[in-house]
Amino acid sequence: MDHYDVVVAGGGIGGVSATIGAAKSGSKTLLVEKYGFLGGAATNANVLSFCGLYQRGGVSRPVAATGGASDLVLSEIEKLGVTTAPRQNPRTGHWLVYLEPESLKLALDRSLAAAGVEVLFHAKAVDAVTSAGRLNQIVLHCHEGRVDVTAGCFVDATGDAHVASLAGVPRKVGDGAGTLQPFSSPIRIGGLADGTVIDRDRLAAALADYNKSGANPTNRTGAGFFAPIPNSTDIWWMVIDYPADGATSAMLSAAERYARAAAQDYVAVLRNSQPACRNAFLVQTGPQVGIRESWHVDAEDRITEADLLAGRTRADGVARAAWPMEDHSVIGRPTFTPIGGDGFAHIPLGCLKAEGLSNLYLAGRTIGADPRAYSSIRVMGTAFATGFASGIAAAHSELSIDRLRPRIEELGGLI
Ligand SMILES: Cc1cc2nc3c(=O)[nH]c(=O)nc-3n(C[C@H](O)[C@H](O)[C@H](O)COP(=O)(O)OP(=O)(O)OC[C@H]3O[C@@H](n4cnc5c(N)ncnc54)[C@H](O)[C@@H]3O)c2cc1C
Repeated sequence: MDHYDVVVAGGGIGGVSATIGAAKSGSKTLLVEKYGFLGGAATNANVLSFCGLYQRGGVSRPVAATGGASDLVLSEIEKLGVTTAPRQNPRTGHWLVYLEPESLKLALDRSLAAAGVEVLFHAKAVDAVTSAGRLNQIVLHCHEGRVDVTAGCFVDATGDAHVASLAGVPRKVGDGAGTLQPFSSPIRIGGLADGTVIDRDRLAAALADYNKSGANPTNRTGAGFFAPIPNSTDIWWMVIDYPADGATSAMLSAAERYARAAAQDYVAVLRNSQPACRNAFLVQTGPQVGIRESWHVDAEDRITEADLLAGRTRADGVARAAWPMEDHSVIGRPTFTPIGGDGFAHIPLGCLKAEGLSNLYLAGRTIGADPRAYSSIRVMGTAFATGFASGIAAAHSELSIDRLRPRIEELGGLI
Protein backbone atom coordinates (compact mmCIF):
# COMPACT_ATOMS: atom_id res chain seq x y z
CA MET A 1 0.00 0.00 0.00
CA ASP A 2 1.35 3.46 -0.90
CA HIS A 3 1.87 5.96 1.91
CA TYR A 4 2.02 9.76 1.59
CA ASP A 5 2.36 12.71 3.92
CA VAL A 6 -0.72 14.31 2.35
CA VAL A 7 -3.36 12.88 0.01
CA VAL A 8 -5.75 15.32 -1.66
CA ALA A 9 -8.99 14.00 -3.16
CA GLY A 10 -10.46 16.06 -6.01
CA GLY A 11 -8.60 17.96 -8.74
CA GLY A 12 -10.76 21.08 -8.94
CA ILE A 13 -9.24 24.44 -8.08
CA GLY A 14 -9.49 23.74 -4.33
CA GLY A 15 -7.67 20.40 -4.69
CA VAL A 16 -4.99 21.67 -7.08
CA SER A 17 -4.27 24.55 -4.76
CA ALA A 18 -4.18 22.30 -1.66
CA THR A 19 -1.78 19.97 -3.46
CA ILE A 20 0.54 22.84 -4.37
CA GLY A 21 0.38 24.16 -0.80
CA ALA A 22 1.26 20.77 0.69
CA ALA A 23 4.04 20.08 -1.82
CA LYS A 24 5.58 23.53 -1.33
CA SER A 25 5.66 22.73 2.38
CA GLY A 26 7.91 19.75 1.63
CA SER A 27 5.30 16.99 1.90
CA LYS A 28 5.18 13.88 -0.23
CA THR A 29 1.81 14.60 -1.81
CA LEU A 30 -0.67 12.69 -3.98
CA LEU A 31 -3.69 14.16 -5.77
CA VAL A 32 -6.45 11.77 -6.89
CA GLU A 33 -9.10 12.82 -9.43
CA LYS A 34 -12.00 10.81 -10.81
CA TYR A 35 -11.80 12.35 -14.31
CA GLY A 36 -8.79 12.38 -16.65
CA PHE A 37 -8.09 16.11 -16.26
CA LEU A 38 -7.89 18.82 -13.61
CA GLY A 39 -9.96 21.96 -13.14
CA GLY A 40 -13.20 20.73 -11.57
CA ALA A 41 -16.24 22.77 -12.59
CA ALA A 42 -14.10 25.00 -14.86
CA THR A 43 -13.22 22.11 -17.16
CA ASN A 44 -16.00 19.61 -16.45
CA ALA A 45 -18.92 22.05 -16.61
CA ASN A 46 -17.79 25.02 -18.75
CA VAL A 47 -17.55 27.41 -15.78
CA LEU A 48 -15.07 29.57 -17.64
CA SER A 49 -14.24 32.50 -15.40
CA PHE A 50 -12.37 32.79 -12.12
CA CYS A 51 -14.38 34.90 -9.67
CA GLY A 52 -13.04 35.95 -6.27
CA LEU A 53 -9.36 36.30 -7.18
CA TYR A 54 -9.81 40.04 -6.63
CA GLN A 55 -11.90 42.20 -4.35
CA ARG A 56 -14.76 44.14 -5.83
CA GLY A 57 -13.67 47.70 -6.42
CA GLY A 58 -14.97 50.90 -7.89
CA VAL A 59 -11.40 51.88 -8.75
CA SER A 60 -9.77 50.73 -11.96
CA ARG A 61 -7.04 48.75 -10.16
CA PRO A 62 -7.88 45.23 -8.97
CA VAL A 63 -6.97 44.35 -5.37
CA ALA A 64 -5.80 40.75 -5.01
CA ALA A 65 -7.61 38.44 -2.57
CA THR A 66 -5.41 35.36 -3.09
CA GLY A 67 -1.79 34.45 -3.78
CA GLY A 68 0.49 31.43 -3.80
CA ALA A 69 -1.01 28.64 -5.93
CA SER A 70 -3.19 31.07 -7.90
CA ASP A 71 -0.09 33.05 -8.96
CA LEU A 72 1.60 29.87 -10.15
CA VAL A 73 -1.45 28.71 -12.15
CA LEU A 74 -2.07 32.14 -13.72
CA SER A 75 1.56 32.33 -14.82
CA GLU A 76 1.32 28.85 -16.40
CA ILE A 77 -1.81 29.97 -18.30
CA GLU A 78 0.04 33.09 -19.51
CA LYS A 79 2.94 30.94 -20.75
CA LEU A 80 0.44 29.25 -23.07
CA GLY A 81 -0.33 32.61 -24.67
CA VAL A 82 -3.69 33.14 -22.94
CA THR A 83 -4.21 36.40 -21.09
CA THR A 84 -5.18 36.29 -17.42
CA ALA A 85 -5.64 40.05 -17.15
CA PRO A 86 -8.70 40.60 -14.94
CA ARG A 87 -11.63 42.34 -16.56
CA GLN A 88 -13.98 44.52 -14.58
CA ASN A 89 -17.70 44.28 -15.09
CA PRO A 90 -18.58 47.97 -15.51
CA ARG A 91 -22.07 47.39 -14.11
CA THR A 92 -21.13 45.59 -10.88
CA GLY A 93 -17.45 46.47 -10.31
CA HIS A 94 -16.52 42.76 -10.03
CA TRP A 95 -13.26 41.50 -11.50
CA LEU A 96 -13.16 38.26 -13.49
CA VAL A 97 -10.45 36.27 -15.25
CA TYR A 98 -11.84 34.51 -18.32
CA LEU A 99 -10.67 30.99 -19.10
CA GLU A 100 -10.09 28.74 -22.10
CA PRO A 101 -10.56 25.16 -20.91
CA GLU A 102 -7.83 23.30 -22.83
CA SER A 103 -5.11 25.76 -21.81
CA LEU A 104 -6.39 25.64 -18.23
CA LYS A 105 -6.12 21.83 -18.16
CA LEU A 106 -2.52 21.96 -19.43
CA ALA A 107 -1.56 24.85 -17.15
CA LEU A 108 -2.85 22.88 -14.16
CA ASP A 109 -0.89 19.75 -15.22
CA ARG A 110 2.24 21.89 -15.49
CA SER A 111 1.64 23.68 -12.20
CA LEU A 112 1.49 20.35 -10.40
CA ALA A 113 4.49 18.98 -12.26
CA ALA A 114 6.44 22.09 -11.22
CA ALA A 115 5.41 21.51 -7.61
CA GLY A 116 6.70 17.93 -7.84
CA VAL A 117 3.52 16.08 -6.91
CA GLU A 118 2.08 12.78 -8.03
CA VAL A 119 -1.31 12.92 -9.75
CA LEU A 120 -3.53 9.89 -10.24
CA PHE A 121 -6.35 10.36 -12.77
CA HIS A 122 -9.31 7.99 -13.18
CA ALA A 123 -9.13 7.40 -9.44
CA LYS A 124 -12.33 7.91 -7.47
CA ALA A 125 -12.36 7.82 -3.67
CA VAL A 126 -15.05 5.27 -2.78
CA ASP A 127 -14.35 4.31 0.82
CA ALA A 128 -12.52 5.50 3.92
CA VAL A 129 -11.09 3.71 6.95
CA THR A 130 -11.00 5.53 10.30
CA SER A 131 -9.99 4.73 13.85
CA ALA A 132 -9.54 6.68 17.08
CA GLY A 133 -10.60 10.01 15.57
CA ARG A 134 -8.30 9.76 12.56
CA LEU A 135 -8.73 8.96 8.88
CA ASN A 136 -6.12 6.30 8.11
CA GLN A 137 -6.81 5.18 4.57
CA ILE A 138 -8.92 5.90 1.53
CA VAL A 139 -9.97 3.32 -1.03
CA LEU A 140 -9.78 4.34 -4.67
CA HIS A 141 -11.68 2.85 -7.56
CA CYS A 142 -9.00 2.98 -10.27
CA HIS A 143 -9.07 1.77 -13.85
CA GLU A 144 -7.34 -1.45 -12.77
CA GLY A 145 -9.62 -1.93 -9.73
CA ARG A 146 -9.21 -1.22 -6.02
CA VAL A 147 -6.17 0.76 -4.83
CA ASP A 148 -5.64 1.69 -1.15
CA VAL A 149 -3.64 4.71 -0.02
CA THR A 150 -2.66 5.83 3.47
CA ALA A 151 -1.47 9.26 4.58
CA GLY A 152 -0.60 11.35 7.59
CA CYS A 153 -3.27 13.87 6.54
CA PHE A 154 -5.99 14.02 3.92
CA VAL A 155 -7.71 16.94 2.19
CA ASP A 156 -11.28 16.55 0.93
CA ALA A 157 -11.54 18.80 -2.12
CA THR A 158 -14.18 16.75 -3.91
CA GLY A 159 -16.70 19.60 -3.93
CA ASP A 160 -19.35 17.15 -2.76
CA ALA A 161 -17.48 16.24 0.47
CA HIS A 162 -17.31 12.59 -0.62
CA VAL A 163 -14.28 11.67 1.49
CA ALA A 164 -15.59 13.26 4.68
CA SER A 165 -18.98 11.61 4.14
CA LEU A 166 -17.36 8.22 3.54
CA ALA A 167 -15.36 8.75 6.73
CA GLY A 168 -18.58 9.26 8.69
CA VAL A 169 -18.52 13.04 9.22
CA PRO A 170 -22.18 14.10 9.63
CA ARG A 171 -23.53 15.65 6.43
CA LYS A 172 -26.59 17.43 5.17
CA VAL A 173 -27.85 18.31 1.75
CA GLY A 174 -28.07 21.98 0.76
CA ASP A 175 -29.21 24.32 3.51
CA GLY A 176 -30.35 21.37 5.62
CA ALA A 177 -34.02 22.21 5.01
CA GLY A 178 -34.22 20.75 1.52
CA THR A 179 -33.17 23.83 -0.46
CA LEU A 180 -30.22 23.62 -2.82
CA GLN A 181 -28.74 26.22 -5.13
CA PRO A 182 -29.81 24.97 -8.56
CA PHE A 183 -27.67 22.95 -10.94
CA SER A 184 -26.80 24.91 -14.09
CA SER A 185 -25.30 23.93 -17.40
CA PRO A 186 -23.18 26.65 -19.02
CA ILE A 187 -22.83 25.94 -22.75
CA ARG A 188 -20.07 26.76 -25.20
CA ILE A 189 -21.11 28.29 -28.50
CA GLY A 190 -19.05 28.51 -31.69
CA GLY A 191 -19.58 29.82 -35.21
CA LEU A 192 -19.55 33.49 -34.19
CA ALA A 193 -17.61 36.17 -36.01
CA ASP A 194 -14.96 38.10 -34.11
CA GLY A 195 -16.55 40.95 -32.13
CA THR A 196 -20.12 39.67 -32.45
CA VAL A 197 -22.45 41.78 -30.34
CA ILE A 198 -25.55 40.03 -29.06
CA ASP A 199 -28.68 42.12 -28.80
CA ARG A 200 -29.85 41.12 -25.30
CA ASP A 201 -33.32 42.67 -25.54
CA ARG A 202 -34.03 40.89 -28.78
CA LEU A 203 -32.72 37.61 -27.37
CA ALA A 204 -34.79 38.00 -24.20
CA ALA A 205 -37.90 38.56 -26.34
CA ALA A 206 -37.10 35.49 -28.45
CA LEU A 207 -36.62 33.36 -25.32
CA ALA A 208 -39.92 34.65 -23.91
CA ASP A 209 -41.54 33.61 -27.17
CA TYR A 210 -39.90 30.18 -26.96
CA ASN A 211 -41.12 29.80 -23.37
CA LYS A 212 -44.76 30.01 -24.54
CA SER A 213 -44.63 26.71 -26.38
CA GLY A 214 -41.06 25.35 -26.14
CA ALA A 215 -40.48 21.98 -24.52
CA ASN A 216 -37.74 23.24 -22.17
CA PRO A 217 -38.63 26.72 -20.89
CA THR A 218 -35.84 28.79 -19.31
CA ASN A 219 -36.01 30.75 -16.05
CA ARG A 220 -33.38 33.16 -17.35
CA THR A 221 -35.86 35.35 -19.16
CA GLY A 222 -33.36 38.22 -19.09
CA ALA A 223 -31.22 36.14 -21.54
CA GLY A 224 -28.73 34.89 -18.96
CA PHE A 225 -25.01 35.57 -18.70
CA PHE A 226 -22.55 35.63 -21.64
CA ALA A 227 -18.78 35.74 -21.46
CA PRO A 228 -16.00 35.52 -24.03
CA ILE A 229 -13.64 32.53 -24.21
CA PRO A 230 -10.06 33.80 -24.68
CA ASN A 231 -8.12 32.94 -27.84
CA SER A 232 -11.31 32.09 -29.69
CA THR A 233 -14.41 33.80 -31.01
CA ASP A 234 -16.56 31.40 -28.93
CA ILE A 235 -18.64 32.42 -25.94
CA TRP A 236 -20.05 30.59 -22.95
CA TRP A 237 -23.66 31.16 -22.07
CA MET A 238 -25.35 30.52 -18.74
CA VAL A 239 -29.03 30.17 -19.49
CA ILE A 240 -29.92 26.63 -18.35
CA ASP A 241 -30.82 26.05 -14.70
CA TYR A 242 -32.29 22.95 -13.15
CA PRO A 243 -34.02 23.06 -9.76
CA ALA A 244 -32.47 20.45 -7.50
CA ASP A 245 -34.02 19.08 -4.32
CA GLY A 246 -31.31 16.50 -3.78
CA ALA A 247 -27.82 15.62 -4.92
CA THR A 248 -28.52 12.09 -6.05
CA SER A 249 -27.54 10.34 -9.28
CA ALA A 250 -31.22 10.17 -10.22
CA MET A 251 -31.55 13.96 -9.83
CA LEU A 252 -28.34 14.55 -11.77
CA SER A 253 -29.51 12.20 -14.54
CA ALA A 254 -32.70 14.19 -14.97
CA ALA A 255 -30.69 17.44 -15.01
CA GLU A 256 -28.23 16.09 -17.63
CA ARG A 257 -31.07 15.02 -19.97
CA TYR A 258 -32.88 18.34 -19.54
CA ALA A 259 -29.71 20.40 -20.11
CA ARG A 260 -28.79 18.56 -23.33
CA ALA A 261 -32.23 19.09 -24.83
CA ALA A 262 -32.53 22.71 -23.64
CA ALA A 263 -29.08 23.57 -25.01
CA GLN A 264 -30.09 22.61 -28.57
CA ASP A 265 -33.30 24.63 -28.31
CA TYR A 266 -31.69 27.79 -26.90
CA VAL A 267 -28.89 27.81 -29.46
CA ALA A 268 -31.56 27.60 -32.17
CA VAL A 269 -33.31 30.59 -30.53
CA LEU A 270 -30.00 32.49 -30.55
CA ARG A 271 -29.35 31.60 -34.19
CA ASN A 272 -32.83 32.53 -35.35
CA SER A 273 -33.18 35.77 -33.38
CA GLN A 274 -29.79 37.36 -34.06
CA PRO A 275 -28.59 37.94 -37.61
CA ALA A 276 -25.00 38.14 -36.25
CA CYS A 277 -25.36 34.60 -34.85
CA ARG A 278 -26.85 32.85 -37.86
CA ASN A 279 -23.92 30.37 -37.97
CA ALA A 280 -23.87 29.73 -34.22
CA PHE A 281 -23.67 26.12 -33.09
CA LEU A 282 -23.42 24.23 -29.83
CA VAL A 283 -19.80 23.22 -29.22
CA GLN A 284 -20.29 21.52 -25.87
CA THR A 285 -22.62 21.20 -22.90
CA GLY A 286 -19.68 20.16 -20.71
CA PRO A 287 -18.80 16.64 -19.57
CA GLN A 288 -21.33 17.12 -16.78
CA VAL A 289 -23.94 19.53 -15.51
CA GLY A 290 -22.58 22.19 -13.11
CA ILE A 291 -23.24 21.38 -9.44
CA ARG A 292 -23.51 24.61 -7.50
CA GLU A 293 -24.28 22.89 -4.20
CA SER A 294 -24.73 19.36 -2.89
CA TRP A 295 -23.56 17.91 0.43
CA HIS A 296 -22.11 19.84 3.35
CA VAL A 297 -20.26 18.18 6.22
CA ASP A 298 -19.68 19.41 9.74
CA ALA A 299 -16.50 21.44 10.17
CA GLU A 300 -14.93 22.69 13.41
CA ASP A 301 -16.07 26.21 12.53
CA ARG A 302 -18.19 27.86 9.87
CA ILE A 303 -18.07 31.26 8.27
CA THR A 304 -21.38 33.10 8.36
CA GLU A 305 -23.35 35.72 6.50
CA ALA A 306 -22.74 38.11 9.43
CA ASP A 307 -18.95 37.62 9.06
CA LEU A 308 -19.14 38.55 5.39
CA LEU A 309 -21.47 41.52 5.88
CA ALA A 310 -19.06 42.90 8.49
CA GLY A 311 -15.88 41.99 6.55
CA ARG A 312 -14.78 40.36 9.80
CA THR A 313 -11.05 39.79 10.25
CA ARG A 314 -9.77 37.46 12.96
CA ALA A 315 -6.61 36.12 14.51
CA ASP A 316 -7.28 32.58 13.28
CA GLY A 317 -7.97 33.67 9.68
CA VAL A 318 -5.99 31.72 7.05
CA ALA A 319 -7.62 32.89 3.79
CA ARG A 320 -9.78 35.68 2.41
CA ALA A 321 -13.36 35.55 1.11
CA ALA A 322 -13.87 38.45 -1.28
CA TRP A 323 -16.67 37.47 -3.68
CA PRO A 324 -20.17 38.78 -2.86
CA MET A 325 -22.83 36.37 -1.66
CA GLU A 326 -24.18 35.20 -5.00
CA ASP A 327 -27.50 33.64 -4.16
CA HIS A 328 -29.37 31.61 -6.78
CA SER A 329 -32.28 30.58 -4.53
CA VAL A 330 -34.72 32.24 -6.91
CA ILE A 331 -33.85 30.31 -10.02
CA GLY A 332 -32.64 32.40 -12.91
CA ARG A 333 -32.50 35.58 -10.81
CA PRO A 334 -29.25 35.62 -8.84
CA THR A 335 -28.73 38.34 -6.24
CA PHE A 336 -25.35 39.75 -5.15
CA THR A 337 -24.72 41.02 -1.60
CA PRO A 338 -21.34 42.73 -1.19
CA ILE A 339 -18.73 41.91 1.46
CA GLY A 340 -18.42 44.64 4.09
CA GLY A 341 -15.43 46.09 5.94
CA ASP A 342 -12.35 46.40 3.75
CA GLY A 343 -13.87 44.17 1.05
CA PHE A 344 -12.90 40.77 2.39
CA ALA A 345 -13.59 38.57 5.41
CA HIS A 346 -11.22 36.09 7.00
CA ILE A 347 -11.92 32.38 6.70
CA PRO A 348 -10.79 30.79 9.99
CA LEU A 349 -8.73 27.61 10.14
CA GLY A 350 -11.61 25.76 11.83
CA CYS A 351 -13.64 25.99 8.58
CA LEU A 352 -10.95 23.89 6.91
CA LYS A 353 -11.03 21.09 9.49
CA ALA A 354 -13.60 18.31 9.45
CA GLU A 355 -15.40 17.78 12.73
CA GLY A 356 -14.28 14.71 14.64
CA LEU A 357 -11.31 13.62 12.50
CA SER A 358 -8.09 15.37 13.50
CA ASN A 359 -6.22 14.75 10.22
CA LEU A 360 -8.96 15.49 7.65
CA TYR A 361 -8.91 18.96 6.09
CA LEU A 362 -11.44 20.59 3.75
CA ALA A 363 -10.78 22.78 0.70
CA GLY A 364 -12.82 24.65 -1.90
CA ARG A 365 -16.57 24.40 -1.62
CA THR A 366 -16.48 21.67 1.06
CA ILE A 367 -15.40 24.09 3.83
CA GLY A 368 -17.62 25.03 6.77
CA ALA A 369 -20.03 27.86 5.91
CA ASP A 370 -23.63 28.80 6.55
CA PRO A 371 -25.90 28.75 3.48
CA ARG A 372 -25.52 32.46 2.65
CA ALA A 373 -21.76 32.53 3.21
CA TYR A 374 -21.51 29.39 1.07
CA SER A 375 -22.83 31.39 -1.88
CA SER A 376 -19.65 33.50 -1.62
CA ILE A 377 -16.90 31.07 -0.61
CA ARG A 378 -17.72 28.48 -3.29
CA VAL A 379 -16.19 30.50 -6.17
CA MET A 380 -12.89 29.40 -7.67
CA GLY A 381 -10.82 32.40 -6.56
CA THR A 382 -11.74 31.63 -2.95
CA ALA A 383 -11.21 27.89 -3.62
CA PHE A 384 -7.61 28.80 -4.52
CA ALA A 385 -7.28 30.58 -1.17
CA THR A 386 -8.87 27.89 1.02
CA GLY A 387 -7.08 25.10 -0.88
CA PHE A 388 -3.66 26.68 -0.44
CA ALA A 389 -4.21 27.23 3.29
CA SER A 390 -5.63 23.74 3.72
CA GLY A 391 -2.70 22.03 1.98
CA ILE A 392 -0.18 23.95 4.07
CA ALA A 393 -2.12 23.27 7.26
CA ALA A 394 -2.26 19.54 6.41
CA ALA A 395 1.48 19.49 5.75
CA HIS A 396 2.16 21.30 9.04
CA SER A 397 -0.55 19.86 11.24
CA GLU A 398 1.74 20.23 14.25
CA LEU A 399 1.93 24.04 13.92
CA SER A 400 -0.11 26.36 16.13
CA ILE A 401 -2.20 28.97 14.32
CA ASP A 402 0.35 31.65 15.29
CA ARG A 403 3.07 29.80 13.38
CA LEU A 404 0.87 28.54 10.56
CA ARG A 405 -0.23 32.00 9.41
CA PRO A 406 3.31 33.29 8.74
CA ARG A 407 4.09 30.01 6.96
CA ILE A 408 1.16 30.55 4.58
CA GLU A 409 2.36 34.09 3.92
CA GLU A 410 5.97 32.98 3.37
CA LEU A 411 4.69 30.66 0.62
CA GLY A 412 2.82 33.51 -1.06
CA GLY A 413 -0.66 33.14 0.42
CA LEU A 414 -2.59 36.26 1.32
CA ILE A 415 -4.24 36.48 4.72
C1 LIG B 1 -23.11 26.70 -13.11
C2 LIG B 1 -22.03 27.22 -12.22
C3 LIG B 1 -21.51 28.47 -12.47
C4 LIG B 1 -20.50 28.98 -11.66
N1 LIG B 1 -19.92 30.17 -11.98
C5 LIG B 1 -18.73 30.49 -11.41
C6 LIG B 1 -17.93 31.51 -11.96
O1 LIG B 1 -18.27 32.16 -12.94
N2 LIG B 1 -16.72 31.75 -11.35
C7 LIG B 1 -16.29 31.05 -10.26
O2 LIG B 1 -15.19 31.31 -9.77
N3 LIG B 1 -17.05 30.08 -9.73
C8 LIG B 1 -18.24 29.76 -10.29
N4 LIG B 1 -18.98 28.70 -9.83
C9 LIG B 1 -18.56 28.01 -8.59
C10 LIG B 1 -17.34 27.15 -8.78
O3 LIG B 1 -17.25 26.65 -10.09
C11 LIG B 1 -17.26 25.96 -7.83
O4 LIG B 1 -17.83 26.22 -6.60
C12 LIG B 1 -15.78 25.61 -7.71
O5 LIG B 1 -15.41 24.98 -8.91
C13 LIG B 1 -15.47 24.79 -6.50
O6 LIG B 1 -14.14 24.28 -6.61
P1 LIG B 1 -13.77 22.93 -5.88
O7 LIG B 1 -12.37 22.63 -6.22
O8 LIG B 1 -14.15 23.04 -4.45
O9 LIG B 1 -14.77 21.84 -6.47
P2 LIG B 1 -15.02 21.32 -7.96
O10 LIG B 1 -14.71 22.34 -8.98
O11 LIG B 1 -16.42 20.78 -7.92
O12 LIG B 1 -13.99 20.14 -8.10
C14 LIG B 1 -14.12 18.92 -7.40
C15 LIG B 1 -13.26 17.88 -8.11
O13 LIG B 1 -13.29 16.67 -7.36
C16 LIG B 1 -13.48 15.57 -8.23
N5 LIG B 1 -14.13 14.53 -7.46
C17 LIG B 1 -15.39 14.54 -6.96
N6 LIG B 1 -15.61 13.44 -6.23
C18 LIG B 1 -14.47 12.72 -6.25
C19 LIG B 1 -14.08 11.48 -5.67
N7 LIG B 1 -14.92 10.78 -4.88
N8 LIG B 1 -12.82 11.02 -5.91
C20 LIG B 1 -11.96 11.73 -6.71
N9 LIG B 1 -12.29 12.90 -7.29
C21 LIG B 1 -13.53 13.40 -7.05
C22 LIG B 1 -14.34 16.14 -9.35
O14 LIG B 1 -14.24 15.38 -10.54
C23 LIG B 1 -13.74 17.54 -9.51
O15 LIG B 1 -12.66 17.57 -10.39
C24 LIG B 1 -20.02 28.20 -10.59
C25 LIG B 1 -20.55 26.93 -10.34
C26 LIG B 1 -21.54 26.44 -11.16
C27 LIG B 1 -22.05 25.05 -10.92
